[in-house]
Amino acid sequence: MRLRNVKGSREQIAASEYAIKEAEKIKGHWAEYLKDNKPLQLEIGMGKGRFLMELAEKNPDIHYIGIEKYSSVLVRALEKMEENPLENLHFIRMDAEEIVNIFEKGEVDQIYLNFSDPWPKERHAKRRLTSRQFLNRYQNILKERGRVIFKTDNRELFDFSLEEIKEAGWTLEKCTFDLHHSEYVEGNIMTEYEAKFVAQGKPICMLQIFLDCD
Ligand code: SAM
Repeated sequence: MRLRNVKGSREQIAASEYAIKEAEKIKGHWAEYLKDNKPLQLEIGMGKGRFLMELAEKNPDIHYIGIEKYSSVLVRALEKMEENPLENLHFIRMDAEEIVNIFEKGEVDQIYLNFSDPWPKERHAKRRLTSRQFLNRYQNILKERGRVIFKTDNRELFDFSLEEIKEAGWTLEKCTFDLHHSEYVEGNIMTEYEAKFVAQGKPICMLQIFLDCD
């Protein structure tokens, strides 16, 4: 999702209390920064933030951080937060490739990847958020047995992800090719993209994985 350049979005992010600046300085000190030891969960590629806002509202005892590459997208989430502030939700504007510079091993409990960009060209495979390169980054920030939960409408990307997961030695805990007609639909929170695809009748794939040991 790339919105047209929203004028002043960088300035808006710089001024927002919900957007964390110089996050690399907090690496290793997130519990201190967030002022408690509650679990910390991330959504990488959060778009306009609908999913995280609903999740954060439902779970006040969990901290959530949304990561988004584009300022023009992130400002939409910040605007929604101005209307409905949530103490346990923050955002970082960054490319997820840099994630190991922000979090220390063991600081993150769970990672959500929702409707990640498919990068269909083979030469771009390592940019996919479920590539072995990204799985390795997640391994380096998650606590032991920390999870990654991934949803997509894109069957090719889902099949690729299953291969990468196997290759990287993660354990597949849940897997469905049709989330909305499966046992896992209970408690599911829809993202912006998910709502659109479900309305079109497209099946949604979902998987949940964890790493047993390093
Ligand atoms: N998760 C939202 C949803 O399900 O409605 C948005 C999905 S949208 C297709 C993918 C989002 O991921 C876009 O907003 C895009 O800018 C962001 N994104 C893609 N690659 C990223 C990366 N490497 N780091 C951070 N954000 C990224």
